[in-house]
Amino acid sequence: MVEILKGVHSIDHSDKGDHSLETWILDCPQGTVIVDTAMRPESVDKIAAELKTMNKTWKDVKLILITHKHGDHVKNLPKVAELTGAPVKAHELEAPLIEKAVGVKVEGLKDGAILPHCGGIEVIHVPGHSEGNACYLLKAKKALIAGDTVFGDANGALTAPPEKYCLDVKQATKGIRRLLDYDYDYLIYTHGPDVMKDAKKKVAELVASCGV
Ligand SMILES: [Zn+2]
Repeated sequence: MVEILKGVHSIDHSDKGDHSLETWILDCPQGTVIVDTAMRPESVDKIAAELKTMNKTWKDVKLILITHKHGDHVKNLPKVAELTGAPVKAHELEAPLIEKAVGVKVEGLKDGAILPHCGGIEVIHVPGHSEGNACYLLKAKKALIAGDTVFGDANGALTAPPEKYCLDVKQATKGIRRLLDYDYDYLIYTHGPDVMKDAKKKVAELVASCGV
């Protein structure tokens, strides 16, 4: 059981020696939401096991949200979409790219759209890591799911996403500044330890250190 906040479950799919690779399950009154799907087949089993600890099944999942198109976030999407039958959504620029990558229908979301789940999930478009890279703000929980918009080292220091993984590293780094416009206490992201204290302060420090 890895419930990092009430109703927010985090699964680390990394093998020993890997950098961390998180995906999330949200326990919302409107139905269970899966955010990202990881890539290895055994990760599907990990998601199933976590659902079980929540007394849920695949059929309780009513929405799949994807942060962006990279393989470590979407390779299991066809399997997870099939098991759940749930609609898949991502930012409107990323949706066709994900469809092309994995052959699953993806509905496009606009920047600023607010999904009704868990007290409101706001879509924040931060391009640069990929075209339609998105963060998802869980407004009622004051938690920002940032995907690959930021990275972290083993000590928990936040960094911009590494250039080798970015479409446009300058745009990706500059875009982090946008995260200062929102209200959250927790920063949850894919590759590094989640920030469960002073999250916004840490993001502000990162923006300052990036000098953009
Ligand atoms: Zn990525």
